[in-house]
Amino acid sequence: MLKENYEYVENEIQKACERSGRKREDVLLISVSKTKPLSMIEEAVQLGYSVFGENKVQELTDKYESIKNPVSWHLIGHLQRNKVKYIVDKVDYIHSVDSLHLAEAIQKEAAKKNVICKLLLEVNVAREETKFGLMVDEVPELVMQIKDFPNIKVCGLMTIAPFVENPEENRVHFRTLRHLLLDINSKNIDNVNMNVLSMGMTNDFQVAIEEGSTMIRVGTGIFGERNYSN
Ligand SMILES: *Cc1c(COP(=O)(O)O)cnc(C)c1O
Repeated sequence: MLKENYEYVENEIQKACERSGRKREDVLLISVSKTKPLSMIEEAVQLGYSVFGENKVQELTDKYESIKNPVSWHLIGHLQRNKVKYIVDKVDYIHSVDSLHLAEAIQKEAAKKNVICKLLLEVNVAREETKFGLMVDEVPELVMQIKDFPNIKVCGLMTIAPFVENPEENRVHFRTLRHLLLDINSKNIDNVNMNVLSMGMTNDFQVAIEEGSTMIRVGTGIFGERNYSN
C-alpha cells in the first residue's frame, strides 16, 4: 500500500511541477507519520524516503530514539516553550514558530546545546479562529526581532490551509504566503533571506506546488487515514 501511495503522490508532484515549470528537486516531500507505527516509517525508509514530520514533541522524540536509520525529523505541530529543550537538537526544522517568546526559548535551548536551529514562521493566512499562527501583518515585525539571534535561522514561512472540498479555494492563501515571503526578502534586510515555503497537504499539495511550495507535508495520502482512538 505504501509503495502505491508514494507512487501516486510522486506522480502528482511531478505533474504539478511540470504544469508550473518547476523542478522536482525543488519540492521536498515530508512524510507526515503522526499516529503511525514505527513499522510504517521503516517501510517508508526502505522505499527511499527519509524526511518525516510529526506534530507532537513526545511522539517525535520516541520515534527519534527508535528509528535506527538516519532520517530527518521536522516538527510541524504547535510547540510549547517548556518542550523546546527536548527537540532543538533532534529536528532539522521547526515549522510552527508563531511568537517572539517561543523564538526566544528556541534560541536559549539551541545555544545550550550549541546548535543552530532552522525554523519557519507559521502564518494563519486564512485567519481561522481555530488555528495557531501569526497574522500576515505580524510577520515582518517578528522577522526583524529574531533575525539576529545567533542560534536560530529563519528559513521561511509555513501555513496550514483550511480544509476545503475544492483545493482551488486554497490557491489564494498559498499565493498570499508566497507574496509575503517575496515582500520580506525584497527589503534586502541583513540576515534575512528566506527560501522555504512549507505549504500543501494531502488535499491540496498540487495547488500549493503550482503556487511555489518548497515543502509539502503529506500524511493521509501516504500512510492512510489516521485513527486517534488508541
Ligand atoms: C497532520 C498534518 C499534516 C498532514 O495532513 P494530511 O492531510 O494527512 O496530509 C500536515 N501538516 C500539519 C501541520 C499536520 O499537523
